[in-house]
Amino acid sequence: MKTDYFNDTIAAISTSQGQAGIGIVRLSGKYALEAAGKIFFVKDGTKPKQFKSYTMRYGWIKDKDGQVIDEAILSVMRAPRSYTKEDIVEINCHGGIVSLRKVLDRVLENGVRLAEPGEFTKRAFLNGRIDLAQAEAVLDIISAKTDSALKISTEQLKGALSHSINRMRKGLLDSLAILEANIDFPDEDIETANKTQIDCKLNKAHNELKNILDASYAGRVLREGIHVVICGKPNVGKSSLLNALLKQERSIVTPIAGTTRDTIEEIIDIKGIPVRIVDTAGIIEPRDLVERKAIQRSKKHIALADLVILVFDGSRKLDTQDLMLMRNLKGKPVIAMVNKIDLKQKIEKDKLKKYFQHILEISAKKFKNIGILEKAIVDAVHAGRVKASEHVLVSNSRHIAILKAAEKFIAEARVSLDNNLSLELVSQDIKDAIGCFDDIIGKRFSEDLLEKIFSEFCIGK
Ligand code: GDP
Repeated sequence: MKTDYFNDTIAAISTSQGQAGIGIVRLSGKYALEAAGKIFFVKDGTKPKQFKSYTMRYGWIKDKDGQVIDEAILSVMRAPRSYTKEDIVEINCHGGIVSLRKVLDRVLENGVRLAEPGEFTKRAFLNGRIDLAQAEAVLDIISAKTDSALKISTEQLKGALSHSINRMRKGLLDSLAILEANIDFPDEDIETANKTQIDCKLNKAHNELKNILDASYAGRVLREGIHVVICGKPNVGKSSLLNALLKQERSIVTPIAGTTRDTIEEIIDIKGIPVRIVDTAGIIEPRDLVERKAIQRSKKHIALADLVILVFDGSRKLDTQDLMLMRNLKGKPVIAMVNKIDLKQKIEKDKLKKYFQHILEISAKKFKNIGILEKAIVDAVHAGRVKASEHVLVSNSRHIAILKAAEKFIAEARVSLDNNLSLELVSQDIKDAIGCFDDIIGKRFSEDLLEKIFSEFCIGK
């Protein structure tokens, strides 16, 4: 795609909008330098069009009447060596919402339009500086909640996934070339040597793809975290446990807004894994409609959970409510946890042991064994599925879905080839797999897809 795909120049506030030391208004496009020249003034009278690329100049932003709006430093990055491959101007002004808005308004009064969400990155993609997977990585970097999620995304921005896709894609194209040469001579059977060559190339791409898919579970976990639900009858210490976990891990990532009174949800970073913890109401027999609704919500959370922590009160005997909960959780991965071990213990551990292989004993109030619980959560996540991986980690669900489809096409191509089915059939499967790869890196895309991807970005990125 050529640089002049867009003729207009865009601008937006690129920093977060609140009170801050500095705020940046960014412009991109052919008219960026000229527009900046109409509002930015330096002492010696030179204009941004005269500034060298990758330099910064100190000056003033003025309104139509020549009144100063703000003091600013302006940086210029000329096409094609810029984020969008277009001329970019960044106006560093004071980070107050009023000054930033006023500076932006001045820019917009001068023939520049407001950028759509993600439009700078979209231009970087359409102008060929980055591929689609890399553009998506930018979004993932901005929304990364843990160090590990950030690492996956920066690797992807650097092109780790794209390199791998291009390598597999090349393998498929090579095998397709050999195959098509044979299709041109339909009367002859495909030579064994050619067949071996094709299979070898398909096999190589297939293995690489399977490895990436195997590791993608780790990628998803590191990016989205796991959903852990704390469950147990009232007063066993569920809220105290959530508080203890929050206290232990000072890096609370996001308190989730809009939670209902009966379920409290927090995201905690436990050893690099974002763990979304929901403390459920623990109501078992509803007394009214509100409680019935609360139970429905708890059930929904449990159904979605990757892991349930079932809490028992060690200072009391097991009762029917405990047993009912245990029964409701059948088939779910559960960590059984006896709380309040600081008190005299009355719970029948033998009975519990019949249901659970391991029972953790803690005191949420006295902060005892919380570290052991955390380790158990991490172990349950890893449980043989998440290996330290030397493969590319894919965490984006769009990519995972497409890679799975590509894997199927390659598998089918190999089966067809093996069973001497029509070469056209094999060829079609390989083409479909290549098409999948094209969808990931954006060699093939629709406006709708771009709209969907970039609308998730913030304005100014
Ligand atoms: P929830 O209804 O399951 O959320 O239970 P809470 O967390 O509100 O705790 C119920 C009561 O048990 C509170 O009075 C807590 O202080 C107390 N509690 C929670 N954990 C412990 C513990 O480990 N030891 C003791 N002695 N009391 C605890």
